[in-house]
Amino acid sequence: MNSTVVTGIGELVTADGSGADRLGVRSGAAVVVEDGLVAWVGPQAAPPAADRRVDVGGRAVLPGFVDSHAHLVFAGDRGDEFAARMAGTPYDGGGIGVSVAATRAATDEELRALLAARVAEMRAQGTTTVEVKSGYGLTIEDEVRALRLAREVTSETTFLGAHVVPAEYAADRAAYVDLVTGPMLEAAAPHARWVDVFCEPHSAHAFTADEARAVLVAGREAGLGLRVHGNQLGPGPGVQLAVELGAASVDHCTYLSPSDVDALADAAGTTVATLLPGVEFSTRSPYPDAAALLRAGVDIALATDCNPGTCYSSSMPFVIALAVREMGLTPGQAVYAATAGSARSLRRDDLGRIAVGARADLTVLEAPSHVHLSYRAGVPIARALDLDA
Ligand SMILES: [Zn+2]
Repeated sequence: MNSTVVTGIGELVTADGSGADRLGVRSGAAVVVEDGLVAWVGPQAAPPAADRRVDVGGRAVLPGFVDSHAHLVFAGDRGDEFAARMAGTPYDGGGIGVSVAATRAATDEELRALLAARVAEMRAQGTTTVEVKSGYGLTIEDEVRALRLAREVTSETTFLGAHVVPAEYAADRAAYVDLVTGPMLEAAAPHARWVDVFCEPHSAHAFTADEARAVLVAGREAGLGLRVHGNQLGPGPGVQLAVELGAASVDHCTYLSPSDVDALADAAGTTVATLLPGVEFSTRSPYPDAAALLRAGVDIALATDCNPGTCYSSSMPFVIALAVREMGLTPGQAVYAATAGSARSLRRDDLGRIAVGARADLTVLEAPSHVHLSYRAGVPIARALDLDA
């Protein structure tokens, strides 16, 4: 047994669902961590005995951010594409092929080092869990390689063979869907927890509703949970498909019809709408109205979608600030969506909150309150608290 009591917490955000914005904020609280789990939460005046004490000096402590949507296994970058987009070239998903070529050409060691650097960059900004997708390999061998590498850094691995139709299958999409739902899925499934698909009729490179359904049904039969990239580039079938199939999450939700919002509200408790405002920022797209989704009763989450094309930011604090400034959330609602909300989208109740039995993934702010995450946008105030140091 190895126990630590964390004291001097200026504001403890438990995200336990109680109180204003469901944040469960406590003052004068201490936390005892034992063997990596939260063992006790209570008044600082009377904590139980522990092997050691860490005093955080009046700083705010939050659950570590859960980044439930990220594409971290890739080589190369697409800064030129970003610059062209800012100069007026529209995004259509085609640039993914550039990352596929660079990723296929990279060695395992190169990809492993790139992945490790990105995970460290996230941790330095307060993220303690990240979901990692494949999707820049698009051959059996390259997709399995991406998932094997991802498994070295997280248990939340997602098979995204259906990211785009690779160039070599452009003239025979059906053959690629057969590959993704057949031998590629079979090889990938042992290394993945989830299957995902880029369902987007507005991109010639992505997948139609029928193709996406085939990918998701096959993934489910292989024992994988379901996630969907939907409604990113325009109104589309992704949200309805995700809800119909009971997916854990439908991500982007940039363009939602009233019936999409109704479907998501009816699916609360099953399907989370994961919002990725870094993508709207990086593609100069309109932001979805997150406040309206909450009012309608939709479960929402926030994630980065960190990827080389549409959002090369690993920063959950940046995402929180955007959600507040551009999507109508209060600072507290945004923090809840980035912790408990995104844990929910991964169907994990041991993450995203500070409660007895949950993982002791704590993030500390160089600030007295969670409000500072959006109030002091762009300032590096969040970091994962390393209790082993
Ligand atoms: Zn994505």
